Amino acid sequence: MLNFPPIKQMMSELIASPSVSCINAQWDMSNRAIIQLLAKWLGEAGFQIELIENKDDPNKLNLLAHSHEMVEHNRNPALVLTGHTDTVPYDEALWQTDPFRMTEKNNRFYGLGSSDMKLFFAFVFEALRNIDLSQLKKPISIIATADEETTMNGAKTIAEIKPFQSSKVIVGEPTSLHPVYSHKGMMTEAIIIKGQTGHSSDPQRGNNAIDASLVLLQALTAWRSKWQAKYHDNSFKVAQPTMNFGCLHGGDNPNRICGQVEFQYDIRPLPGMDLASIKAEIHQVAQQALQDTHFKLEFRSLLEGIPAYALDKNSSFLKQAESITGNKGITVAFGTEAPFWQQLGSETIVLGPGDIAQAHQANEYLDQAMIKPMITHLQGFIKQLCL
Ligand SMILES: [Zn+2]
Repeated sequence: MLNFPPIKQMMSELIASPSVSCINAQWDMSNRAIIQLLAKWLGEAGFQIELIENKDDPNKLNLLAHSHEMVEHNRNPALVLTGHTDTVPYDEALWQTDPFRMTEKNNRFYGLGSSDMKLFFAFVFEALRNIDLSQLKKPISIIATADEETTMNGAKTIAEIKPFQSSKVIVGEPTSLHPVYSHKGMMTEAIIIKGQTGHSSDPQRGNNAIDASLVLLQALTAWRSKWQAKYHDNSFKVAQPTMNFGCLHGGDNPNRICGQVEFQYDIRPLPGMDLASIKAEIHQVAQQALQDTHFKLEFRSLLEGIPAYALDKNSSFLKQAESITGNKGITVAFGTEAPFWQQLGSETIVLGPGDIAQAHQANEYLDQAMIKPMITHLQGFIKQLCL
């Protein structure tokens, strides 16, 4: 028997430990408290704990916990159960309950991070409760990350240390108990067109960046059509990679020549597509569109992004997940930390009890009916992979 607190106590304490991450510094918080909570429970249960700060921010902490002395197992746990500890910000006015107090109502548990995805850790611990660590033939590791909702720098920091290579990894993001084997990647960038302001009465006095943006957008639209025609993956609802023109800002007054325009886009590549080369191609198209003009272009990365992720549809791990859960493997439209673990050579699926429809919403909740099956599924994986 592992010495974890009662499940409801763990769930309440996880919800009660604020860990908002946000690119807006006003909202951004340290996740130290929730990581220390997890470290305390896992330590008391006999796990070995490593705490790792984000490479860019010592206020953001990641946790690695191992059931065994990992050096003796070539640092290769048979099973890794992982998730992020941070949540998105919340709009207090829209919440009917305190986002940091777990509230039981209508067969649901309400609270910020209930579905996405703090409570997953409580279910992992509950699944481990009746296991004697010394009876585990193969090690199990738990990873809890920081900043998944913003930069994914927690997962990136851990992946750089390469804490394991050929493990089986389950990311407990909200998938309503369906094993997910693939999602698209994501990247966002701003292109700034710099021209020259001047009096509107004489266009020769300046270089109008709004005029230039028409040329640029036309070139990018043409490139996008050709690019999308080249790739498709029918396992996704939107089978093509996408490029969304998200916002365009420029100018201040009708009687001034517009000196600067900023244009922002997002890219959603399919598995197998390389973000860096897509970005390079876009830069080339943009530069060519405005070459031999007086306009200058600047590119500013907004979110470095995450690669697409795919586990082979025929992999034995996916088959195992389908048989344990009784649910077919699916693809999803949202991004996760899965590509970072998959890139380490570890077969990774995304599987959790929450519902993505609840994620990033006011009055976020977890349906109680999901809890028992999730714990049973986790026990199934532990039994088949570690005992
Ligand atoms: Zn999440």
